[in-house]
Amino acid sequence: MIYADNAATTAMSEAAIARMTEVMKQTYGNPSSLYSIGQEAKEVLEQARADIASVIGANPGEIIFTSGGSEADNQAITSAARFGLRKGKKHIISSAFEHHAVLHTLNRLKEEGFEITLLDVHEDGLIRPEEVEAAIREDTCLVTIMYANNEIGTIQPIRKIGEICKSKGVTFHTDAVQAMAHIPVNVDEDNIGMLSASAHKFHGPKGVGFLYVRKGVPVYNLIEGGAQERGRRAGTENVAGIAAMAEALKEAVTDISEKMASVAAKRDKLIQGLSEIPHSAINGDASHRLPGNVNFCFEGIEGESLLLLLDDKGIQASSGSACTSGSLDPSHVLLAIGRVHDVAHGSLRLSISEDTSNEDVETIISSVGEVVEYLRSFSPIWRDLMAGKKQFIL
Ligand SMILES: *Cc1c(COP(=O)(O)O)cnc(C)c1O
Repeated sequence: MIYADNAATTAMSEAAIARMTEVMKQTYGNPSSLYSIGQEAKEVLEQARADIASVIGANPGEIIFTSGGSEADNQAITSAARFGLRKGKKHIISSAFEHHAVLHTLNRLKEEGFEITLLDVHEDGLIRPEEVEAAIREDTCLVTIMYANNEIGTIQPIRKIGEICKSKGVTFHTDAVQAMAHIPVNVDEDNIGMLSASAHKFHGPKGVGFLYVRKGVPVYNLIEGGAQERGRRAGTENVAGIAAMAEALKEAVTDISEKMASVAAKRDKLIQGLSEIPHSAINGDASHRLPGNVNFCFEGIEGESLLLLLDDKGIQASSGSACTSGSLDPSHVLLAIGRVHDVAHGSLRLSISEDTSNEDVETIISSVGEVVEYLRSFSPIWRDLMAGKKQFIL
């Protein structure tokens, strides 16, 4: 089996599993309890917080543990909106290709009377900082732009966007779920006000993540209850999951440059191999992208059929985000970068990791080639294209 869907979720690392089991067995106390086993759990929690903060250049007090990336996105955006409203600021800037955790939160705020500007994404899958700047108004309370896109892997000019927001005094949030632990992220250098991350995207457990909130940026708690996380997120902490997340993060950023180079070399080999398939095209800029992301469109086929046939060959991939595959609508990300419906339907996302071997890369290239050719052999759209009844787009 070749697992090439690491953008949907990753396998837990051995070190994270070992850490999680150890904490579950030995440190099962409630961190809010005053007796020793509770205090030991509290220490595990605070060590994890310090470790995570240190990786991203933050202070431990700026890290809030959440149930994952979606909760962190919801909390960040809702916080900025609530506090903006108090100052009469009801305008939020984001982009058309954000994750649904961001887009659906923004939709809810729109129903509540907020005005949302969704910036266009250019064909290369990148947002232009000058367009962010031009969209900022007197009443803008938040700019939220993802660090790296989950479908096409393009890495946004976050530092520049952060700098603009900083100079204009607007809170800047970034959904860094796909970037975290895959490329270096530093909240100070990148001028980030709030940041979301999720453990299961970097070989940690599912159901745990964190929200970074810069000191001085007000934060509203989505979940009412006890005073955990300094009153910013109620509920007994997922101590074992949090410890395993910190373990996975520390492990991932060790020698990150070497890891990035090694994964990117395999990515580039995949891009080169798949480009040889006629009437295909890469989605998003080839270089400003995550080391492990490859996303292609093949004209004349359906992405869903491609996935199922690849699965038969033991290759697990995706045709869009896990949330949209299964529905027949083409990906909102591919539409946002200007792909027409027909072409967007024939998409394939391969997201590889350090566990992907060179042999796996060769197998993927040849299998995708065979499956695309097979599907085209009985595709009515392909027949029309070949007969000249329809124009090729790619
Ligand atoms: C996976 C993902 C999320 C959601 O994270 P969960 O921990 O699964 O809730 C949010 N944003 C992006 C970009 C993602 O890839």
